[in-house]
Amino acid sequence: MKLITTWENLSDDEPEIQSGAKVKNADYVQQAEECLFGNYRRAPVAFSHGFGSRLFDVEGKGYLDFIGGVAVSSLGHAHPRLVEAISAQAGRYLHASNLYQLPEQIKAAQMLIHLSGLERVFFCNSGTEANEMAIKLARKHASENGRGPRILAAHNSFHGRTMGSLAATGNPAYHKGFEPLPGGFEFFPYNELAPWEAAMGPDVAAILIEPVQGEGGVFPGTLEFLHGLEELCREHKALFIIDEVQTGIGRTGAMFCYHSHALRPDVVTLAKGLGGGVPIGAVMATREAAAVMGPGTHGCTFGGNALATAAAQVVLEEVELLLMDIDERSKQLVSGLEKLPHVTGVRAAGLLIGVDLDIEAKTVELACMEQGLLVNSVRAQTLRLAPPLVLTEEDVQEALEILGGVLGK
Ligand SMILES: *Cc1c(COP(=O)(O)O)cnc(C)c1O
Repeated sequence: MKLITTWENLSDDEPEIQSGAKVKNADYVQQAEECLFGNYRRAPVAFSHGFGSRLFDVEGKGYLDFIGGVAVSSLGHAHPRLVEAISAQAGRYLHASNLYQLPEQIKAAQMLIHLSGLERVFFCNSGTEANEMAIKLARKHASENGRGPRILAAHNSFHGRTMGSLAATGNPAYHKGFEPLPGGFEFFPYNELAPWEAAMGPDVAAILIEPVQGEGGVFPGTLEFLHGLEELCREHKALFIIDEVQTGIGRTGAMFCYHSHALRPDVVTLAKGLGGGVPIGAVMATREAAAVMGPGTHGCTFGGNALATAAAQVVLEEVELLLMDIDERSKQLVSGLEKLPHVTGVRAAGLLIGVDLDIEAKTVELACMEQGLLVNSVRAQTLRLAPPLVLTEEDVQEALEILGGVLGK
């Protein structure tokens, strides 16, 4: 076994290693295998820096980033205001915990309340944590109101990987080997209201739903379906919980997707795009729903710390300014995609786009990477695009040319 004796022996982000030879992407593949869990299928590319919609790997090759770290890099890379806010906050203080009043957290919450119309905010670090909190809230709300604990969710949904959110995820493939999972979750078809109506009753605590199924392959919920679920919740006094972890913060063209559908959820969960790359999640709720989570019911050590919420403030301000352009970029991208060979269908919700192919998506993903375009094969024959919201008309044009070149072959 090789012993590490000094920090200098460890690889750093300089593009040179001890021998003086240039670092290659491939060098990291073996290193990763020897030190990291093998739970991801990683592409053999290691990045060194970026700006806007572009990333550069350690060999100096540039890529148009059309997956944005899975709908996370809402402001692209090295956004000057985000860099400035994070640096400035690091120079003041990063963390003090929720034992104290946190001005940055309060400001970010006030902004979310102003933008959403909901009334209370809880911060955590990720999407699964946000849903975990929402599930606990639903159970507590039900128990305080003399209702049952059932939570209804959709087939093909994705709500996260921790035990509670996993139990709420309607995809048996994610469950396999991890049973027993927390009980009380039931699954019904997406965009088909009748089975939900039949299942509803006084023992239902909540319905948990994505307005667009992102991980499931980019399937937008219909207006009728989502409104139907909301009405069922009203009628039966259950909580209507919308998972906007992927769709929130401008992704679909509105600040929140539920706004464009004129829905009135009791609880909304957020994460991915909210920090522009800084880990943060949030639960927004009505005052009435939030009230059940009193002192001691839940907590999160890092949740809403000064660094993460300083970043979120900048993201919220900047995304508001970008909202006007998102539809236009989306239309440009969709109309270009529809003309490409092997494309059999395009489903778009703003800049969250699913592209159905009649060939294997993974092969296309790898060929695009080779040509300097990052996309994600979300299903066997479906690509997902979730580019930074700052992308330009020229970025879209260039991406379409690369993808056209790959699919034309
Ligand atoms: C990504 C995602 C999650 C999980 O978020 P993590 O930050 O990976 O825990 C939950 N719900 C939806 C809709 C997502 O897209």
